[in-house]
Amino acid sequence: MQNEKNMKFGTKAIHAGLEYDSATGAIMTPIYQTSTYVQNGVGNHKGYAYSRTQNPTRHALERNLAAIENGKHGACFGSGLAAMDCLMKILNPGDEVISTSDLYGGSYRIFTTIFEKYGIKFHFVSMADTSEIKAKINEKTKIIWVETPTNPMMNIIDIEEVSSLAKANNCMLAVDNTFATPYLQNPLDLGADVVMHSVTKYLGGHSDVVMGALICNDDKIADEIYRIQNSSGAVCGPQDSFLVLRGIKTLHLRVQRHCENGSEVANFLKNHPKVDNVYWPGFEDHPNHIVAKKQMRGYGGMVSFNMVGNKLEDALNVLNRVTIFALAESLGGVESLIGHPATMTHAAIPKEERERNGVVDSLIRLSVGVEDVEDLIGDLAKALR
Ligand SMILES: *Cc1c(COP(=O)(O)O)cnc(C)c1O
Repeated sequence: MQNEKNMKFGTKAIHAGLEYDSATGAIMTPIYQTSTYVQNGVGNHKGYAYSRTQNPTRHALERNLAAIENGKHGACFGSGLAAMDCLMKILNPGDEVISTSDLYGGSYRIFTTIFEKYGIKFHFVSMADTSEIKAKINEKTKIIWVETPTNPMMNIIDIEEVSSLAKANNCMLAVDNTFATPYLQNPLDLGADVVMHSVTKYLGGHSDVVMGALICNDDKIADEIYRIQNSSGAVCGPQDSFLVLRGIKTLHLRVQRHCENGSEVANFLKNHPKVDNVYWPGFEDHPNHIVAKKQMRGYGGMVSFNMVGNKLEDALNVLNRVTIFALAESLGGVESLIGHPATMTHAAIPKEERERNGVVDSLIRLSVGVEDVEDLIGDLAKALR
C-alpha cells in the first residue's frame, strides 16, 4: 500500500502492510500453511526459506502491527511472554533491568524465575514519579520495563519522562502496551525503544489466539530481535497470524466501544455504596489522570475495584453471582470478563508484595467488553445487591 505513513489509524489497521494476493486477487491474506519453500536453485528463493525464519502470513501481520504502532519493524511470537523472553535474551549476565512493580504476574514470574537464574538483576519500583528509578539506575542498567496502564491497579506512568531518563543513561525503554492498545497509545512516539504486546488480548480481540509481538524503530535492535526470534524459535503459526490480521481490522471500532462501556461501568461502580475504590484512569481524581490525558487518546475498558470492608467473601460473592461477565483469566476480548487478581493473574506474586501494590483480597478486575452497557451494569448491580 502507498503512503501508509499518512493514513489515519482505521485505514492503517485495515490496509497497512497488506497486499491483495497477486496469484488470485484474494482480498484476504492467504494462510500459508507451509513449513518450507521450493527454491529455484541453490540460494535462490523468493525471500522465504523456512517458516521459523519467516512465513508470508506472519510477515504480513508483522508489517501491519509495526504500522499501527508507528514503528518500522515488527516480530510476532507464540505468546506475549515469548516476546518478552526474546527481548530479555538481548541481555548478558550482570546486566540489570528496572521494572514497574505493579505489573502482569507472568511478567514478574519470567523475570524472577527464569532470567534471574542467568545472572540478570531485576529491580521492581514504583514509577509514579522517576525518583525510585533514579535511585536504582546505574551503568549496568540496560532495560527499563514499563507497563502502563498497570495491571490491575491502572496506574499511569509518564512514558516521555521515563524515556528521557533512559536516554540520559544509555538504556533501552521497553513498554508493555497490551492494556492501552496502539489505538489509544503509541509508546514509540513518546520515546520508547521497544513496544511489547500480548496480542492475545485486544489485538486478537476475540479470545481465540495466544500470541505476542515486539515492535521497534531501531535497525540494530530489530536485527537482534530477529536473530533471537529465529534462533530460539518461539514463533506463531500462519493460522493464528490470519486470525489476528482479521482481529486488527476492527481494533479501532472495538476499542471505541470498550472505552465508552468502560467509562459507564466505572462511573456506576464509583457511585455504588458497597464499592470502595474504583481504579480507572479516566476519572479526573485518578492520581495520574493528567498524564493519561496527555499520552492516551482514551481510557480503555479495564476497570478494577475493591469492596467496602475489604472482605474476600464479599468479592467472591460478586464473582460467583455475575452471569454476563464470565469468570476467567485474560482480557481484551469482545465479551466481558471478571477476575480476582489475588488468586488468579497475580497469584505468582508474594502476598506482601502484592498487597503493597494495592492487590488486596477484595480487589476485582473487569475487562469490560463490547456488549450493550445496560446489560453489563444490570449484571453488576444484581451481583452487588
Ligand atoms: C497477558 C499479558 C501478558 C502475557 O501475554 P501472554 O500472551 O499471555 O503470554 C503480558 N503483559 C500483560 C499486560 C498481559 O495482560
